[in-house]
Parts: sequence; C-alpha cells; structure tokens
Amino acid sequence: MFPRRPTKQITLGDPRVGFVKIGGGLPDPHNRAGNPTTPAPVSVQTMTAGYTHDIDACVREINKLHAAGADIVRVAVPEKKDTEALRHILPQTKVPIVADVHFHFQRALEAVEAGVHKIRLNPGNIQDRAQVIEVINACKARNLPIRIGVNEGSIIERRDKQKRMKELGAVFSDQKHGHLLAIMIAKLEEYLDIFYEQDFHDICISAKSMDAAIVVDAYTEISKRFDHPLHLGVTHAGPKETGTIRSVAALGGLLIHGIGDTIRISYANDPIYEVQDGLELLYSLGLRPRVGVDLIACPTCGRIQVDLFTLIQDVRKALAEKITVPMKVAVMGCIVNGPGEAEGADVAVFAGDRRGIIYVQGEKVANVPEPEILPRLLAECLAFQEKVQRGEAKLGEKKVEIIPPDPLGELGSGYAKINSSTPTPTPLTVQGR
Ligand code: SF4
Repeated sequence: MFPRRPTKQITLGDPRVGFVKIGGGLPDPHNRAGNPTTPAPVSVQTMTAGYTHDIDACVREINKLHAAGADIVRVAVPEKKDTEALRHILPQTKVPIVADVHFHFQRALEAVEAGVHKIRLNPGNIQDRAQVIEVINACKARNLPIRIGVNEGSIIERRDKQKRMKELGAVFSDQKHGHLLAIMIAKLEEYLDIFYEQDFHDICISAKSMDAAIVVDAYTEISKRFDHPLHLGVTHAGPKETGTIRSVAALGGLLIHGIGDTIRISYANDPIYEVQDGLELLYSLGLRPRVGVDLIACPTCGRIQVDLFTLIQDVRKALAEKITVPMKVAVMGCIVNGPGEAEGADVAVFAGDRRGIIYVQGEKVANVPEPEILPRLLAECLAFQEKVQRGEAKLGEKKVEIIPPDPLGELGSGYAKINSSTPTPTPLTVQGR
C-alpha cells in the first residue's frame, strides 16, 4: 500500500447528524494557524434508488442505507417537488445528505435552503458562470462543500477542439485515453477557476467513467494536478455481477496507490450492496477497521465433506445480525486448508465426513454432526464475543497451535482422524519421492 495522498479537507454534516470529514493531510484553509489536518478515513457513499419526492419511502431507504454503514447518502433532486421533500426528509434521517444536481441550478439553491449537507454539481450540464456563482455563494453562506463531478458521459464538448486541450493533448499523447483525459482536465480547470475566483475551496472532485481503465487514468492525472479530496467511482458499472469487478479493479487500484478519499460503488441493484461492497473493499485494504465478522470460507472443491455453500450463507446471515466485534470466522470444507485457516481465525469450523470440528482460537471445542454445525458455531461465536466484551479474551490471539490431522499424504481420506477426539500429526510425505 502506498501512503495516502495529502489533500485539503472538507467537512459535511451538522451537530444533529454528526460530521463526516473527507480527505486531509494539508493545512485547513479555515484555520489561521495553518496546521495540517489529520486525514479522515475513506468514507463510503451511496445514492437512493427511489424518488426523493416519495418522502416516506425515501426516509426508509436513507435510514436502511445508513444502518448498513453508509457514511453519506446522496439523493437525486430533478424536480422542485424533490427539493421540497427534503425539508421533510432531513429531520427524519441521521446521516449527511448530498443533493445531486443536474441541469437546473435552482435545485441546488433550493436544496441548500432545505438544509442538505453538500451539493454535487456536474460541469457538463450546469455551465453558466453566473448560476454557478450563485450556488457557490449559497453554499459559502452555510459552510457547505460542493462536489464537482465530471462524468465522461455528460461532457458534451467531448468531440470539440478546445484551446487548452491542445496543450493538454501533448501531455496525454502517450495515453490510450489521452483525448478524453484532456477534456476532463480542461473542464475541471475551467470550472475550478470559477470557485477559486470566489475564494471557495470546500471542494471535492470526481471524474467517473464506465470504463475502469479510464477511471484509473483520470483520477491518477487529477491527483497530480489538484489538491482537493477525490470521490472515486465507476459510473454505470452495470449489474452487480460485472459491476463488482469493474469497481474493485478501478477503485482498488487507486486506493492502493493512496488516491481516493470517499468512494461510491454503483450497481444497477439495491444500493445496500453498494454500501456493503464499498465497506468490504476498504476493510480488505486495511483502510477502515472492520465492523462485525470477517468471514473466511473456502471455494469448495472435489474434497468437500458437507453442504458448504448453504452453511456459509446461513453462517453469514446468522452472524451478521448478532456479532458486532471484528471477529475472524473461518468455514472450511475439509481438512486440507481447514486447520491452517482455523489457526488464523478466532472461531473456525472445518468439515469432516458430514461433521464439523469447531475451534476457538486454536482450541478444539466440538466435533458435531452436520445439522449441528450452524447452531454450535453460532453459540461459540456469541460466547466468544461476550468474553471479548468482558475483556477475558482478545481478538486475533492464538492460544493453541492446531496440529493438522492430515497435512498432505491422504487428501480427502482422513475421516477417521477428523472424527477422533485427538488428531495426530502425520509425517509429510510426497508421492513419487
Ligand atoms: S478446504 Fe478442502 S474443500 Fe475447501 S477448497 Fe480447500 S481442499 Fe477443497
């Protein structure tokens, strides 16, 4: 992992919903002492899928996404009835809300009046300088940040020749997407100038595309040129099945290189998956401390000894609601990798012949038939969680070294050893030697 890129920092929220900071590391422009800000953890955003003017449904959706872990929720406000609805929605939610504004700058002004916590403007469709200045001044008066979100699809001049692009074109000539990157950068520079002229710096930038490679190239170039925090995303990533790969390829690559301060994974699906997968990406890269279970499971193979797919799903659902400490739980299909994973997990099960051997921090606690695996595993996880909460156990501690019952010599045929109460180590033998 590369160190996080230092940026200016923006803050959104209010005392009622709390404050979320984005980016950091550079001096705070609002602080006269000019002390460097502490970089905020990378935050996870999503966007509601329903109509904002459907007040009750919108409130339910925002609260569901917040409960799932969203740090920030964005809503679309295409019509006046949507910004009017915000006045009723905001008091019923407890997470910073961003109004996503396209085409009509009045929606931004109305959303600011309604009390949203941030505005997103698209330079591709709100271009009138006077209108942009009106929005800037409204946000400035209330200390609200603005995201400038350039989308590949909404840059209408993408085929035009621009003066600045000629210079930029030379810079990007060796890149596959040089022409598009040049337009994106030119558009941002032009738009940012309006903000700087108004002495407005509470800015976040995004430059999304549906192409993961363009996203990586665009954010890499932007990160070299501007010191504002970056909102990462692959736009129109498609259904979850392919969108996951696209998003993780682009966002994961950038985050590994220290680029990115807030993320949205976008799918054509229930936005709850965007939140869950965004958080998982950050947990996986060690950019956020995990909340709840870290579930490790094998992909299964011809050595499988129980119905592992069903077991994993059942374990995931059962633990998701009950375990709040970042406990590592391993569910493995046989003894080949079971002992190794069990050793690194707080609670683990690996399957034998229609049975499961359960370990807690390396200590064997049960050997149960298949139907009893789920209830016993859940009971052990809950008991272990209570111990952690009482300070009697520590997560990630290994008390006993697990001795693999059958390390290599008899793959898939060590049932007798699995079922015996004391597994005995077998000397490592490799066939043909
Ligand atoms: S743990 Fe066993 S069943 Fe699971 S993938 Fe590995 S060898 Fe196959």
